[in-house]
Amino acid sequence: MSAHHFLILAGLALSTLPCLVPMKRPRDVASPADGAPADADARRRQPAVIAYRVDLLPKYDASFYERARVGLKKSFEVEVPPRAARSFEVPRGHFFRIHCVDGPQVGDLNLWCLDNLEERFYTGKTRQLHATHLTKGDRLWSCFPFLRPMATITHDSLQWYGWDQDGASVHDVIGTRCDPYSNRMLRGEDYDHCCHSNLIRALAERGVADAEKHVHDVLNVFMCTGFTKDTHQYFMKASPVRPGDFLEFFAEIDLLGALSACPGGDTSASHSDDTQRCFPLKVEVLEPCSKELEGWIGPQVCGYAGKHGLA
Ligand SMILES: [Zn+2]
Repeated sequence: MSAHHFLILAGLALSTLPCLVPMKRPRDVASPADGAPADADARRRQPAVIAYRVDLLPKYDASFYERARVGLKKSFEVEVPPRAARSFEVPRGHFFRIHCVDGPQVGDLNLWCLDNLEERFYTGKTRQLHATHLTKGDRLWSCFPFLRPMATITHDSLQWYGWDQDGASVHDVIGTRCDPYSNRMLRGEDYDHCCHSNLIRALAERGVADAEKHVHDVLNVFMCTGFTKDTHQYFMKASPVRPGDFLEFFAEIDLLGALSACPGGDTSASHSDDTQRCFPLKVEVLEPCSKELEGWIGPQVCGYAGKHGLA
């Protein structure tokens, strides 16, 4: 057996025993012998500066939203079956809620401007403007060149969770969505009920052409995630969500939404397969009765002139 063949066989053996494979990445460089400069510590001690000034964001007017949500009337409801997705429309000024109903289950949410699917939820900028995990008072921002709040979170029954001892929290905008490409690459298997595929089917059922190109990175509703403290790798753990919990949004613009009930269930162990116990989710669209919204004008698209320094 050549060294080359040995390495291949050793690699195969390790790949079948994932629990024995070190989870660490070879990253840490600490001493001059490792290539660190003499002033490495001083360079590391520079203060962290919040990159985007949150005091310049449009304020979350809690009393406005609280008044607007008094006496809400349900106008639409859809159940999202496990390992599937459903779409729904929300008129501007209405609310929508994502409910945990029968058991702990996470969901992957996509949002578009109803009249223009090119304007869609932008997880990366939302993450930079707010945080890795969202809760009441945070906005879901749309992509360039629109960059405006599409929805605002107005109630989060899991707000009590905060940050746990592992640095994890719920409702992240870090992870993307489970997808069949990564699954094929990592496990050599085809699985057709990842959230990415579920969202494609939900859009295709509406007659949207080229549905896949419209599916984008998600808000991981109810999912509990973080980064390991030593290697900074993305991790998930059992969601704290229970039946009765819900996340509520105010639609700042006319929205098309799609929600997938992830094949990972509560994401306590795996995703992208049929091993996890899964439950449905429920989406409710709620019409406001309050006079609070009379004369309300929703957010306009970003006013940047769009020249980019081009002639
Ligand atoms: Zn998923």
